This record gives sequence, structure tokens and C-alpha cells, in this order.
Amino acid sequence: MDIRQVIGRATKEGIKHYGDSAAEKFYSFLQNREFKIPKCQSCGVIQFPPRRFCPLCYSENLVWVDVPKSGRIYSFTNQKRALRFTYPDVIGFVEIEGVGRILTKIEGEDLKIGDKVELDFVEVDGGIILHKFVKRK
Ligand SMILES: [Zn+2]
Repeated sequence: MDIRQVIGRATKEGIKHYGDSAAEKFYSFLQNREFKIPKCQSCGVIQFPPRRFCPLCYSENLVWVDVPKSGRIYSFTNQKRALRFTYPDVIGFVEIEGVGRILTKIEGEDLKIGDKVELDFVEVDGGIILHKFVKRK
């Protein structure tokens, strides 16, 4: 089995066995190429990764909001091998105004801390769509 197939299968099984309703909803939005995360209607906290309740005030009164489509690279690394990633994939944190730092796949040449990156999507084996951020030229 090719490593990409392993990644797709691991992601699918992970959602099924370890995910909750927030994870299922998060991935179903991604299937439609929408990157949404929950925002607490009680205290305003935006959370990533998504949870079924607010980590600050424990309210379950959440609404799903679009993640802004651009941000800046906060940190990154070349990942030799990890769940969902294979060399020479780059993973890192992208700082998004009003949201915070999001762990994500990052693509582009000559990446530097502070570079502007834009939201895009990648389909992995198994038909799963994941978010990524790309540095455009
Ligand atoms: Zn809250």
C-alpha cells in the first residue's frame, strides 16, 4: 500500500474512531472545500481544533464561522513522516488574524517566517479533503 493510501485510511479511521460530532462536522465542511471552525456565542472564543463545547466557558452554544483565507507563517518544519504528511511536506503554524495559530500543511518555495500564505485544499487518498496554506509568487 502506497504511503498516501495509508495516510488517507488513517485519517478516515481516525475520524470514525476518535472523532466526535465536532470533528465530523469539521471534516464534512472540508469535503465541500469550506474551512470552518466553531465560535462560542457566549464568550466569543474561536477554537481550533474544533470541540463540541467552548474550552473557556464550557458553553455548547457554538456557531461555525469561516476561517479567513489568508495568514502569515508563524513557524514551520519539513516533516519526514507523520500522520497525513510525507516528505517533503512542510507543516507549520499559520497565524490568522482573529483566530490564532493553526497547524496546517504549507506549500511554496523559499518559505520564511512572516510570509503571507493563502488558504487552499488538498485531497488525500480516500477522498478526504484537508486544508493547507500556500505561498503564492
Ligand atoms: Zn465560550
